[in-house]
Amino acid sequence: MIKIKSLEDMEEYRATAGTLSKSALRRAGAMCKPGVSTQEIDRVVESFIRLHGATPGFKGYGGFPGSVCASINEQVVHGIPSPDVILKDGDIISIDTGANKNGWAGDNAWTFYVGHVSDEVKGLCEVTRDCLKAAIEQAVPGNHMGDVGFAVQDLAESNGYGVIRDYVGHGVGHQMHEDPNVPNYGKKGRGVKLQVGMVIAIEPMIAMGTYQTRVWPNGWTVQTTDGLPAAHYENTIGITKDGPMILTQDDEGPWCQMQGGEE
Ligand code: MG
Repeated sequence: MIKIKSLEDMEEYRATAGTLSKSALRRAGAMCKPGVSTQEIDRVVESFIRLHGATPGFKGYGGFPGSVCASINEQVVHGIPSPDVILKDGDIISIDTGANKNGWAGDNAWTFYVGHVSDEVKGLCEVTRDCLKAAIEQAVPGNHMGDVGFAVQDLAESNGYGVIRDYVGHGVGHQMHEDPNVPNYGKKGRGVKLQVGMVIAIEPMIAMGTYQTRVWPNGWTVQTTDGLPAAHYENTIGITKDGPMILTQDDEGPWCQMQGGEE
């Protein structure tokens, strides 16, 4: 069942969970330098979220052990932070952060460059970020979920990339995962009709090669089966009568820098 939110709900979400989730993501991105472990990032983000009177939404969610998801290179999503995973020059790292505040569940993600990343991999990241922007533009009342998915799929595939099918975006609210699903593929005019008051996380996951994935024996980490890199960008948005309102944004806006390691 899709839970419809009021404009006041959306504004409260943005002012609380949305702002803090984005600031936490920015904080994480500033740490993404060669030599840093993903556990260090996790620790800093958890402290940051708790310092602001909130709790990390992912910690313990379905048993997930981390406060962030930290997924390197061929890992698509749900990478577990570890002291043994040390960032190297040329890596990309997809980080998911979510802060629960005032009863709202924040959710957003970004793929950062670690040091000097190849132009080929930067291209994948830039197109994936642009897929997110294109999808958000389609999130207007009267459109359908297929219009959102089509925007992602069309841009990604026209660049020769694979659209991950096994994981999709979702409704957001008091719970991190609510109805409806928000696939990154689809046909124009098909699927759930978008209406004022829907709050959804749009999160294209795009691969350099195949879209097929497998899950590690740890039960969490998802990687591409061909070992080629994948990128992941996510914002939570509310659909208003005037169009999409990005709810995961702080004073600096809804977007992060692509380059990690910079404030
Ligand atoms: Mg999400």
